[in-house]
Amino acid sequence: MHKGLGAELRRIAFLTLICLIFGWLNGHITWTLIIGGGLYMGWVLMQIRQLYLWVTSRRREPPPETLGIWGEIFDNIYRMQRRHEKERRRLQGMIRRSQQTTAALRDGVVILDAQGNLNWWNEAAETLLGLQPIDSGHPLVNFIRHPNFIAYFEANEYDNPLNLASPRNDSKQLQYQINRFGKGERLLIVRDITRVHRLEQVRKDFVANVSHELRTPLTVLRGYIETLSMAPDLQPVMVRAFEQMQQQSERMTLLINDLLTLSNLETEGNEKKQKKIPLLPLLESIRADALVLSDGKHEDIRIKCPDNLALLANKKELHSAFSNLVFNAVKYSDADTQIQLKISVDETAISFSVKDQGEGIDPIHIPRLTERFYRVDNNSRNSDQGGTGLGLAIVKHILLRHDAHLGIISKPGKGSTFSCIFPIERLIELPPVVADPDDEDTAA
Ligand code: ADP
Repeated sequence: MHKGLGAELRRIAFLTLICLIFGWLNGHITWTLIIGGGLYMGWVLMQIRQLYLWVTSRRREPPPETLGIWGEIFDNIYRMQRRHEKERRRLQGMIRRSQQTTAALRDGVVILDAQGNLNWWNEAAETLLGLQPIDSGHPLVNFIRHPNFIAYFEANEYDNPLNLASPRNDSKQLQYQINRFGKGERLLIVRDITRVHRLEQVRKDFVANVSHELRTPLTVLRGYIETLSMAPDLQPVMVRAFEQMQQQSERMTLLINDLLTLSNLETEGNEKKQKKIPLLPLLESIRADALVLSDGKHEDIRIKCPDNLALLANKKELHSAFSNLVFNAVKYSDADTQIQLKISVDETAISFSVKDQGEGIDPIHIPRLTERFYRVDNNSRNSDQGGTGLGLAIVKHILLRHDAHLGIISKPGKGSTFSCIFPIERLIELPPVVADPDDEDTAA
């Protein structure tokens, strides 16, 4: 049995014994016992009152001195309180320290509650976003009003960061990254990326300028090569040299054109000229170009596309993306194999796919195919094809500008399927063409 409880029981037994002796001496045993018990109860109530006063008092004083089990109860509560106090101070210290660390960060850190209201932010967020203490509890979107930010914030998909000009200073570029935590709370990290953005801009301008400046000298060179190669009495070695010069200058022209296309795609806004593009005529014209590209050798190019479908897109860009994929299929498969161009629609997407029976691609290369200048050099075939290694990078950029993505399925030796997958919102169904009986052309 517990020591304090044992002592208390002994005290009660001793008190009962005294009451019994007194009761026996005065002849009122029952009354003496009742009075003794009442006195004991009064003492217990006094201890409870003392305990209550001590526990509810604001000052953290040592517990009042008392006897037996009550003294032990007071001491235990006091020890527990001190332990909790120590733990509370330790946790407070940790919170203060993590706040100091976050405050010292150069990146802005903003904590938002489940409703998207401002909860806490560090000094850097004050400087970058212009937040002030009175803004606490207000919605974040009142302070960053850019439509792209609002769309990013409300889309609830924060896998990638968002880059935008600062709401306070147009010449600064900020990167926003949101992370979810707790029960619907969000943590916004704001980073000043002005320097990186400038460097990126310098890179884009440099590529665009160099490509542009190289065009004219190259045109002159190609002109001379063509003229000189037609000169009479050329020695066989010179004929071969001119052939090579012609091939290489054509390759350089392709490269420069692709580089210019890429840098235009990077610099232009994507809201440009998006219209309803009927798909069947587009695919038929690409097939005709592909037949010319293969010198009529690759005959079996089939189209599977309903005639009433159109896509909301930029015609020039769509043509460029689709033809890049079709020309690749022609380049990387044998002339006697089949190529299929297919439009398919399901509940969420409309896809254009190009399926070939060519050499296929090893899976290790697939994630890197859309990188600039990445080419699968598994045999000499690639270099024979005169590609630039920029085609799929262009396709990827164009698809991004149409909220679409590229899917690649390929098996070495069996063939590949490249698919452009667009959100279903871009699909437009065209009204059926009603044949006019008076129109001779249609009737024929
Ligand atoms: P390239 O101008 O070299 O064709 P791309 O960016 O269009 O550049 O393609 C990158 C690489 O992907 C190509 O070099 C080729 O190795 C591979 N590739 C693309 N399309 C196909 C295909 N249909 N079949 C097999 N390999 C392909």
